[in-house]
Amino acid sequence: MKWTDDRSGNVDDRRGSGGGGAIVGGGLGTIIIAAIVFFLGGDPSAILSSGGNSASRTEQRELNQNELQVGEFIKMITAENEETWAKIFADNGMRYQPAKVVLFESQTQSGCGTAQSAMGPFYCPADQSVYMDMSFFQELQQKFGAKVTEFTIAYVMAHEMGHHVQNLLGTLGKTDQLRRSGKYSEEEMNRVSVATELQADFYAGLWARYSNEREKFLEPGDLESAVEAAEAVGDDNIQKRSQGYVNQESFTHGSSAQRKEWFMKGYNSGDIKQGDTFNQLLR
Ligand SMILES: [Zn+2]
Repeated sequence: MKWTDDRSGNVDDRRGSGGGGAIVGGGLGTIIIAAIVFFLGGDPSAILSSGGNSASRTEQRELNQNELQVGEFIKMITAENEETWAKIFADNGMRYQPAKVVLFESQTQSGCGTAQSAMGPFYCPADQSVYMDMSFFQELQQKFGAKVTEFTIAYVMAHEMGHHVQNLLGTLGKTDQLRRSGKYSEEEMNRVSVATELQADFYAGLWARYSNEREKFLEPGDLESAVEAAEAVGDDNIQKRSQGYVNQESFTHGSSAQRKEWFMKGYNSGDIKQGDTFNQLLR
């Protein structure tokens, strides 16, 4: 993808700050964080069992050239998210409130408890922030076999920003109410989770369409790399890799085909009203 000149001031780069040592993991924080939406289907027990581990502190150090470049890139994608969503909200008579983006390594404190690399990128509704450890993308390439391009990173960020949009629109609040009511089975709540995640993919596609119309940043192969990443982290793919079989009832993020479908639907339609994954999946 081509770079634009836009940079956001809402990126908090904590890499190299040595901040990991100040954190006491475990306790309530870890439990809360296991309940929020992950980009990867993931296994919350892996996070819970690592609770209390504050040994992996990082030394304070200067960021290298490559890391500084990554920081610039994240500021650029954040700016393009802000511009696009401000426009879509304004077109619908609403005001957009930008999210914060926190870049960290190893672990850091979030409004949802301790953020750890193993969790993959996530959005915390409590402090309206996206948390990203860039090592996730190495894992995506090595473990999940997706070719990672700059636009892959843009897609993942746009997906997390999609959760922020859901937060602003009250969607996350409603799903949280359903969960807290205790009236629904685990299976039913998994379907709510799938609808939430696929809508974030739809919003990511919508973001790509709007932003590209404005900035003309897409290059051949970019969309394909986003689709490849979406497919790589489909629940069926992850389950096949981790347990050797697929159990649809335990899906939390949607199948590879669904993730691709909803991302492309957002991109092709360019219409936020086409993104009602809840109506389509929960009847
Ligand atoms: Zn998500």
